[in-house]
Amino acid sequence: PRPIETLLGALEGTGQTRKGIKAKDAVVHWFKMDLRTSDNRALWLASQKAKEAGVPLIGLYVISPEDFKAHLTAPVRIDFMIRTLHVLKQDLAALDIPLYVETVETRKDVPERIIEFLEEWGVSHLFANMEYEVDELRRDANLIKTCAEKGIDMQVVHDTCVVPPGLLTSGSGKQYSVYSPWRRAWVAKIHADPELLNLFDAPEKNPANARDKVAALFDCEIPDVPEGHQLSEKDAQRLHAIWPAGEHEARARLEKFCDEKIGQYHNARNFPAGVSTSNISVHLAAGTLSARTAVRYARDRNKTKKLDAGMEGIQTWISELAWRDFYKHVMVNWPYICMNKPFKPEYSNITWSYNMAHFDAWKTGHTGFPIVDAAMRQVQSMSWMHNRCRMIVASFLAKDLLLDWRMGERYFMENLIDGDFASNNGGWGFSASVGVDPQPYFRIFNPVLQSEKFDPKGEYIKKWVPELRECNEKEVHDPYGRGAAKKVEKMGYPKPIVVHKDSRDRALAVYKEGLGRD
Ligand code: FAD
Repeated sequence: PRPIETLLGALEGTGQTRKGIKAKDAVVHWFKMDLRTSDNRALWLASQKAKEAGVPLIGLYVISPEDFKAHLTAPVRIDFMIRTLHVLKQDLAALDIPLYVETVETRKDVPERIIEFLEEWGVSHLFANMEYEVDELRRDANLIKTCAEKGIDMQVVHDTCVVPPGLLTSGSGKQYSVYSPWRRAWVAKIHADPELLNLFDAPEKNPANARDKVAALFDCEIPDVPEGHQLSEKDAQRLHAIWPAGEHEARARLEKFCDEKIGQYHNARNFPAGVSTSNISVHLAAGTLSARTAVRYARDRNKTKKLDAGMEGIQTWISELAWRDFYKHVMVNWPYICMNKPFKPEYSNITWSYNMAHFDAWKTGHTGFPIVDAAMRQVQSMSWMHNRCRMIVASFLAKDLLLDWRMGERYFMENLIDGDFASNNGGWGFSASVGVDPQPYFRIFNPVLQSEKFDPKGEYIKKWVPELRECNEKEVHDPYGRGAAKKVEKMGYPKPIVVHKDSRDRALAVYKEGLGRD
């Protein structure tokens, strides 16, 4: 078996704790990117074990700034996570469960500190949900081994995907690398096994005597955002208002979206000017909401239990959530994508440009292409971007500018509040045509046509690019090409940094050449 299968095999928890390991003084749930009390599989299992053994349940979280660096985690995401930990601590305290949080120096200190903690508190059973990135799988497989040597039972279970990776294969037993047949299999699996949408209750309250045994842990303070990762005061103020943290907020967003928007989602989702999508990606990334809850909640609003019938808006939204599962399955099956390699090896030979002036113009929203600039400025302001715009700016970077798509992928991870390796890598691979089930390389978005189609009145553009506010509905998509040069030049709006038609021809030639090489 490939290393990934060995690792997954080592981790695949059954939820049944191993026989022969007697409960000692406590049970621990190790929180990772699952910062919620409700519908959290490992937390629920931990709670059941603690109840059965009559010992307290403890929540544990370990902060590793070195991991933030390795994963390019955006400061806004770290800040969101710390704010979420405060909410989680309160929610757990209401159940008489303490949350112990500690910052460690290096990545390798994480498992060491966990073991120390388990030994200090006489813990016999450790529970956690699985993370599928290669480093995380390795870390957890090693931790299971160490735990076993110390007589501690560690269970790592599937939770983050609605359908766990590994369950869906085509008729010939192969992993799917095309989304549509994979989605049909995903839907069929859930129909055949509706328990996949059963939600897990929040943990039970620690009984008073159990609570008293771990009383000292309630004094633990949540550490500040580690040095070097903090937001400026101004950014923090703005971003805290846009992105309130915690699972109650996640739930409220989900409910509001399902009450007000989901019915029209299939028609409205591609138009970035209004709020037509759920804005829950931040919560799915931090684990303040489970994908299972999101699918279940939407499904229960439908007239049918089928995921591929009934209201079109609901079906479409659930299909979008399925993309998230799809990209995680892809990462599990083709783990080399975690190592900076394109999914399609034949795309490794493209001669990318490393024009840093172009990259700066792209990052700061000064390319002279209004829809691209609006989207990039949305990220600078909100740390989030609409999906249609993510596709437009990614295509622009990889094809119009021929910049290495990994530069854009990295910039997104370093700046998005919802940065998620698998979805981000999948989105970049799709747009740059190097990924799994991508756009064909000869399909190159024309940014002006995209803009006219998806922001016809230029409302989105004008919101983020004030230099263009005086333009009419025609000019706003291409001011220099449509006679508004004087108007926007005096406002300081830049001229286009490339000619789309020429850069399109160049991209076609360079992709073709790269594909032709051995
Ligand atoms: P909604 O439209 O309400 O969709 C609901 C949920 O479905 C999303 O929250 C998300 O979890 C999932 N989803 C929707 N579209 C996709 C998709 N194409 N791929 C995977 N999941 C999807 N999403 C991230 O969560 N993190 C990323 O780092 C990320 N990077 C991306 C980079 C590129 C270049 C592209 C093209 C897409 C990327 N996406 C990423 C996917 C998508 O853009 C966001 O999930 C979506 O915009 C989030 O907004 P929402 O919650 O309002 O989505």
